[in-house]
Amino acid sequence: MKVIGDYHMHTNASDGRGSVRDKAVRAAELGLKEIAIADHGCGSLFFRQTEEKFRKQQAQIAAVNAEGGVKVYSGIEASITGEDGSLDVPDAIVAACDVLTVGFHRFLQPRYICREPRFLLVNGWGSERARGDEELVACNTRAWLAVMERYPVDVLCHLGHRAAVDVGAVCRAAAEKGIYIELNEKHIDALERHIDEVSASGAIFILGSDAHSTGKVGAFGRVEEFMRRHNIPEDRVCGIGRTAVFRTKKGFISTK
Ligand SMILES: [Zn+2]
Ligand SMILES: [Zn+2]
Repeated sequence: MKVIGDYHMHTNASDGRGSVRDKAVRAAELGLKEIAIADHGCGSLFFRQTEEKFRKQQAQIAAVNAEGGVKVYSGIEASITGEDGSLDVPDAIVAACDVLTVGFHRFLQPRYICREPRFLLVNGWGSERARGDEELVACNTRAWLAVMERYPVDVLCHLGHRAAVDVGAVCRAAAEKGIYIELNEKHIDALERHIDEVSASGAIFILGSDAHSTGKVGAFGRVEEFMRRHNIPEDRVCGIGRTAVFRTKKGFISTK
């Protein structure tokens, strides 16, 4: 499997190690054509992007891109914070980024937890049984469908990790809008039970190492094994058989 793109990695702007340049250098060594930086959104509990840091990172990305070589996209990994499909990033970042990646994370600031305690606490910390509650899964599904309506989402990351959704319904909506379903190296097991539904939805996949250290950029051993076992064709995966095309954020002004 020849990897040409990795669309999910963290830098020292959030909880990753290494700079944008470190990631690009490593990607070039591996023969990748493109990467996307996806540091955690502004609601993340410990390490997060801010609008100011994000702008600085965009300048670093522009400088690396100006040198040619590996194409670096400016992305963000936003957290879904409630049933209405809200995200932990301001509209200004959404409008400015190249790649909007969204998913569920449990380490969020208390103000989000106060607003939607069940959504964040049960999905984040509940037992598997509690997380499988029919009503909660329906609520989660509404959240995922809503976020795709409200925001110019590009990637649904680690779908099924912690927060259970109606995978078929979410992936059909994603396929219709051209939103990629991530094959996440760290959390590929979350798709295990659902892969038939995802495949049947017609959705296109995208590679994301979720590398926090520079050494893990472009490493997809678990994803490769998963793809082989489930007969996922390489031409259905951005980062192997094809490069990614992201939705334009031009015209996105506000979710209000
Ligand atoms: Zn994540
Ligand atoms: Zn991540």
